[in-house]
Amino acid sequence: MNRDELRNRLTFYQDLGVKQLYKRATSVDAAAPATTAAAPAPAIIEPALSPLAPPGDTLALIRADVGDDCRRCRLCEQRNKIVFGVGNEQARLVFVGEGPGADEDAQGIPFVGRAGQLLTQMIENTASKEGIPIKRADVYICNVVKCRPPENRTPQPDEMEICGQFLFRQLEAIRPRAICALGSTAAKAVLGTKEGVTKLRGKWHKWRDLPVMVTYHPSYLLRPYNQDAKREAWEDLKKVLHYVYD
Ligand code: URA
Repeated sequence: MNRDELRNRLTFYQDLGVKQLYKRATSVDAAAPATTAAAPAPAIIEPALSPLAPPGDTLALIRADVGDDCRRCRLCEQRNKIVFGVGNEQARLVFVGEGPGADEDAQGIPFVGRAGQLLTQMIENTASKEGIPIKRADVYICNVVKCRPPENRTPQPDEMEICGQFLFRQLEAIRPRAICALGSTAAKAVLGTKEGVTKLRGKWHKWRDLPVMVTYHPSYLLRPYNQDAKREAWEDLKKVLHYVYD
């Protein structure tokens, strides 16, 4: 990072701290009786966990902010590798999954296990059938949480919120033409909704100003009885690929 970048980032975090301090100080003052002369309680500034991206943000800066031994939530206790994201930094399309599984935790790369192989096939086969010349390496793939939840359990709301700041910065740094949310955890994180995938899938939604398509998670499609879901996921993917690459 050069000196200007460093100065911008420091200013950004200082502003954020000042804003939090100001908010807390004014709410303390407003609650105090008018005649009380006592000084307001000292404001506690929480760590800057901002949904806003610092100016000049890049994937490398975000990765550096995550750090090599992130301990912001309990998922650090059992993880092996932090799984940040993989692919083209200028991708037109970003896939967001839930969180790393065992293979991803071992390799530090998202979607490399069975579900990942299916995702790769879905991207590459659908693109090829539709005459769209892209491979997995042309898109960007990441997860809501960057560390494996024990026993592959669903990430908890506080884990999603803490790690979500990095996901949002990744999306803002890449600014793809579209985002594809895989499964209900990704849909919940990106759209802030409690609605299930069955209702959300196949339609366009928005994250900030970016179009979002929701579809089934590849792990769900691996279950043998989900033939209809498979067909629907392929339709969703076709829609996204044509929107992004036509
Ligand atoms: N499932 C996910 O949601 N993400 C991965 O990286 C692998 C499996």
